[in-house]
Amino acid sequence: MSVVEETFDVVVIGAGHAGCEAGLACARLGLETIVFTVSMDSVAFMPCNPHIGGSSKGHLVREIDALGGQMGINIDKTYLQSKMLNTSKGPAVHSLRAQADKVMYALEMRRTLAETDHLTLRQGEVTDLIIEDGRITGVKMFSGAIYHCKAAILCTGTYLKARCLYGNVIEHTGPNGLKSANYLTQSLIDHGVEMQRYKTGTPARIDRKSIDFSKMEPQYGDQRVVPFSFTTDPDSIQKEQVPCYLTYTNEETHDIIRAHLDESPIYAGIIEGTGPRYCPSIEDKVVKFSDKQRHQLFVEPESAFSDEMYISGMSSSMPEAVQYEMYHTVPGLENCKITRNAYAIEYDCIKANQLYPTLEFKNIHGLFSGGQFNGSSGYEEAACQGLIAGINAAMEVLGREQIVLDRSQAYIGVLIDDLVTKENREPYRMMTSRAEYRLLLRQDNADLRLSKIGHEVGLISDERYEKLLEKERMIEEEIQRVKTVNIGANEPVQKFLEAHNSIPLKKGMKLAELVRRPELNYQMLADIDPTRPELPEDVQEQVDINIKYEGYIERQIKQIADFKKLEDKKIPEGIDYDDVSSLRLEAQQKLKALRPISIGQASRISGVSPADISVLLVYLEQGKYLK
Ligand SMILES: Cc1cc2nc3c(=O)[nH]c(=O)nc-3n(C[C@H](O)[C@H](O)[C@H](O)COP(=O)(O)OP(=O)(O)OC[C@H]3O[C@@H](n4cnc5c(N)ncnc54)[C@H](O)[C@@H]3O)c2cc1C
Repeated sequence: MSVVEETFDVVVIGAGHAGCEAGLACARLGLETIVFTVSMDSVAFMPCNPHIGGSSKGHLVREIDALGGQMGINIDKTYLQSKMLNTSKGPAVHSLRAQADKVMYALEMRRTLAETDHLTLRQGEVTDLIIEDGRITGVKMFSGAIYHCKAAILCTGTYLKARCLYGNVIEHTGPNGLKSANYLTQSLIDHGVEMQRYKTGTPARIDRKSIDFSKMEPQYGDQRVVPFSFTTDPDSIQKEQVPCYLTYTNEETHDIIRAHLDESPIYAGIIEGTGPRYCPSIEDKVVKFSDKQRHQLFVEPESAFSDEMYISGMSSSMPEAVQYEMYHTVPGLENCKITRNAYAIEYDCIKANQLYPTLEFKNIHGLFSGGQFNGSSGYEEAACQGLIAGINAAMEVLGREQIVLDRSQAYIGVLIDDLVTKENREPYRMMTSRAEYRLLLRQDNADLRLSKIGHEVGLISDERYEKLLEKERMIEEEIQRVKTVNIGANEPVQKFLEAHNSIPLKKGMKLAELVRRPELNYQMLADIDPTRPELPEDVQEQVDINIKYEGYIERQIKQIADFKKLEDKKIPEGIDYDDVSSLRLEAQQKLKALRPISIGQASRISGVSPADISVLLVYLEQGKYLK
């Protein structure tokens, strides 16, 4: 019996948040790309929280957009509510967060895939990798079909050998009852890939009509919405927004959970997978924070096309009847109707230290991976990896240099470095505290940091790049002007300062000095700065931040220079660590296993001490590895 046999440049396994970015990147770079999914209904599907962005995740979305990815544009078109978080704090932690219309988000992404040249979207389960002489050459389908390729990208998310659990109910499906993928894990193991099992969970969905919102605090979006994408015209996306609601669990909720803890598959030890510390189930919260009398819950709309509400903060795997009991204790949910049960999901994924920072497998040439499959958690974390894996798979096929973003360039660089260098034992979620250079890695300057790379790769158009260069020129010129303009101690100035509770001037002062005053900023000083040119909002924002935080920024730039010294010290691929005699045994073993690409990366491997790094540096300087 004949089987279907086709050839593509790139095969992408998965059409989730990672797979969509990977497929779009490859197709937009002109490569014939096929994106597989076990179910067309899982394209850009949001199986959990209906929001994009939030602390540090908003940074990832801006960086994806700056590199030429799709997530930012997609959420700007499909948001229900949007809010800039942490505005009372410094710009380094300002983060955009938008409630997504899950239905529209998936449809909009699917339309983008459909309208992209060179991209084929195909329902079908990949069961085997075809590898010849250590290089990927194709994949085999459940149907028996064979797809040949020059590179492949694994973005299988939470579907590999997935099973969903609540109480003693176990369903061998992917999220939301979608088909799981049960064969590829074995093929990966057969090709020497180390697998592990992770888990995550989701709360019940509640029928909006059964909720008493009068017992909750409405949470509104920003008056004027700031877009995620640098290409979105802010005026084009202003619209009426949908509120979320704040409520709380209480002691009664906690008592029910404590009384039935042994019926939770997590606490009954049925669940094998490791869960995310920073997205705990309500059971975990009640056990780990037993002193807390209540836990915050946000009631969020899922879509304008459904009446389902998402209860953020109450994910669980308790038996169905216990779910009803515990949700009914929450103010506003006393008579709620559950439309979908809460559940936990287990799935197979890899230990990401089998990958280079390019997200290519060290032992399988041309095979890349991204997303939850790499041990991360979250739509944004998945999408940024999919984009980088897609770019590098394309670079591999085009015979061009692959890209690595380091920790000083992007949150994406921090995320990938942490995944491939550290021994992560739970799903990895991004946080601002993980980024040591976060004052420079702000969400507001992602384009200035990364769009040049996006342009070099070919995902940012010349037109968009020209606009960026113009923006850079305007920022630089205006910063110089503000540093040279003198503001006299005249009456209008004194009146202005008094009106803003700012100390009056004894004598003239540079405008920049006034910008640095905590109670003032560049934008508001326009009233006493008559020679100021008309400048776009985003340019004004950059001028304000760069002048206000100049000292801190300069200090961080110095720190980065030191970091770069070790990061740019590359380690030759063929180095024999057994030959570096004075290395400690543990360090030798770790370095042989991880094969870091730079001294910087080597220095971040646990078990490799600064003394080991000195030994390695001397060994490299003496060129002993050349013999
Ligand atoms: C129940 C649940 C709760 C979650 N809770 C949280 C949370 O609280 N916090 C958080 O940050 N994240 C959470 N997540 C995780 C995360 O947000 C998502 O899983 C995210 O969708 C990951 O994106 P991805 O692209 O890596 O994979 P997914 O979105 O899972 O997409 C995987 C894609 O791969 C396809 N696929 C898989 N195997 C094959 C195969 N062999 N052949 C062909 N196609 C295949 C699937 O059809 C799908 O299209 C949760 C996920 C789930 C399922």
